[in-house]
Amino acid sequence: MSALRAFLPLNQGSIFKLAPKSHWLAAKIVPFALTTHQSRVPSVPGLPGSRKRSLLSSGLFLLMSSSVAPLLASEIPTLEGAIVPHWIGGKAIARQGDRRAPVYNPATGQVARFVPFASKEEVDAAVSAANAQFPSWSAIPPLRRARILFRFKELVEREQSRLVRIISAEHGKTIPDATGELVRGLEVVEFACGIPQLLKGEYSDQVGTGVDSFSFRQPLGTVVGITPFNFPAMVPMWMFPVALACGNTFVLKPSERDPSTAVHLGELLKEAGLPDGVFNVIHGDGEIVSQLIRHPQVAAISFVGSTPVAESIYRQATESGKRVQALGGAKNHLIVLPDADLDQAIDALIGSAFGSAGERCMAISVAVPVGEKVADALIERLRPRIQALRVGAGDSKDSEMGPLVTRTHLERVRSYLDLGEKEGAELIVDGRDADVPVEGFFLGGSLFDRVRPNMRIYREEIFGPVLALVRTQTLEEAIELVNKHEYGNGVAIFTRNGAAARLFTQQVQIGMVGINVPIPVPMAFHSFGGWKRSLFGDHHIHGPEGVRFYTRLKAVTSRWPEELASTPQFVLPTAH
Ligand code: NAD
Repeated sequence: MSALRAFLPLNQGSIFKLAPKSHWLAAKIVPFALTTHQSRVPSVPGLPGSRKRSLLSSGLFLLMSSSVAPLLASEIPTLEGAIVPHWIGGKAIARQGDRRAPVYNPATGQVARFVPFASKEEVDAAVSAANAQFPSWSAIPPLRRARILFRFKELVEREQSRLVRIISAEHGKTIPDATGELVRGLEVVEFACGIPQLLKGEYSDQVGTGVDSFSFRQPLGTVVGITPFNFPAMVPMWMFPVALACGNTFVLKPSERDPSTAVHLGELLKEAGLPDGVFNVIHGDGEIVSQLIRHPQVAAISFVGSTPVAESIYRQATESGKRVQALGGAKNHLIVLPDADLDQAIDALIGSAFGSAGERCMAISVAVPVGEKVADALIERLRPRIQALRVGAGDSKDSEMGPLVTRTHLERVRSYLDLGEKEGAELIVDGRDADVPVEGFFLGGSLFDRVRPNMRIYREEIFGPVLALVRTQTLEEAIELVNKHEYGNGVAIFTRNGAAARLFTQQVQIGMVGINVPIPVPMAFHSFGGWKRSLFGDHHIHGPEGVRFYTRLKAVTSRWPEELASTPQFVLPTAH
């Protein structure tokens, strides 16, 4: 179990909870220049000052063992001073850092812990650790790399309840939603376990007399993943399982808003047998990201996040001659044709607009009824459903929708409600009036009617529980509306008419299309990616495109003028 649990559940009074059976894990928390930052040492409730300082300066503050039992997210206390460590070279590096950010429990609004931003030395240490391991890791047969990922999958399943509580406690999403994210991430691990098959090349016999030709794919080197807050487990798992399976080494820079899950995944990879240094996690903001992109030992960058940052990362990476895939923001439409099953369409809109408080890149944020009758019916039936949404803490069984991730983001989403009214849209349900907990970053669901394409609430990604309804009169008008939007991530159509669905599928300029499916996220063995300003770069993520992104092709032409001597083999060859 987890040595890293240390940075989560430190509790006032009783610091550790003891599990019935304890075993010590090899992973150690390494104090990293802690002593030079004692002036910044935070207060640790429940411990006398001198004891706090000595624990912090010795690093013991963060050194714990598997003897700590998983705590419920609701038990994770407010604790100024707990530090989320980096994970470098198979070790947790805990350091206050010159710069750091608070990590909140969005359900209480309290600071739960701090995340230090990596120093330049730590960025170098992570990249160097990865780079040093590349020759040996890439030389391991793909089947043996896959076996480590098989074990990792089993360990994540073993730790599922703990991981989903960490996700929920830092992000705010409900436990079932956090479970869904983890399972979707594991599906990419399952896909990556088939890497021997995925890396099979092509062979042509006799391209000339006595000449054969074959091509195969080789890994790139040290690759970097930069991930958003809204899927702290799934989005990193879109990247590193495929990258590692292909033979690359990896440095992950997770969101500073919910950074803990990534470090726990690093620890489980180590337990699964991944050599130290093959997978590393460092924390930070845009400054650290720029250092990673420019680092001479970094071969490629995968990014998922907002469009302005995606575009900037794409530019920086291509200027540095790096391979890059940068997935950006979204504004996803759901078209409802007059012949659609309205019950299904309403359920789809409620789940996809308000699940995870709308903080999904595949959330539906625009409903597009075709015809006034459908529009009026949608408004009439959506209104009571949105008003009845159960909003509460992510770990409460009753909650359908959790809080937003931070107060800043909450205020930003609320400001769009003011803006929409100023722009002339009709605010049918105002989430600010909803009965939600007063503590924490909660907001009820909102619905705007009569939204026009020129309004900012239509053009911009709000990334919150706000559904806009744009009325159209024909399918062609609906398609044109979608195609004119700058984003092109996902879209859905609800209809019983196959011909209409087919026309829509052919003509719509969007990367992922759902037909009577509200959130058309492709499975792990297909690839995920948007069009237009929802993706910068040539490759979609995970699936076959992921394998292509993390490898490059080599073509060999060979001629053997004389036969080589061989030695008889009497044992069935295996991949050892
Ligand atoms: P964000 O762009 O603010 O941050 C994403 C990552 O980039 C984080 O790790 C962050 O630390 C880093 N970052 C922030 N500012 C940076 C800068 N100036 N330079 C370099 N790096 C920087 O995104 P977010 O708020 O964490 O996540 C929400 C956004 O992500 C939404 O726009 C959502 O649509 C998008 N998203 C897209 C997909 C997709 O597949 N297209 C999936 C999930 C989320």
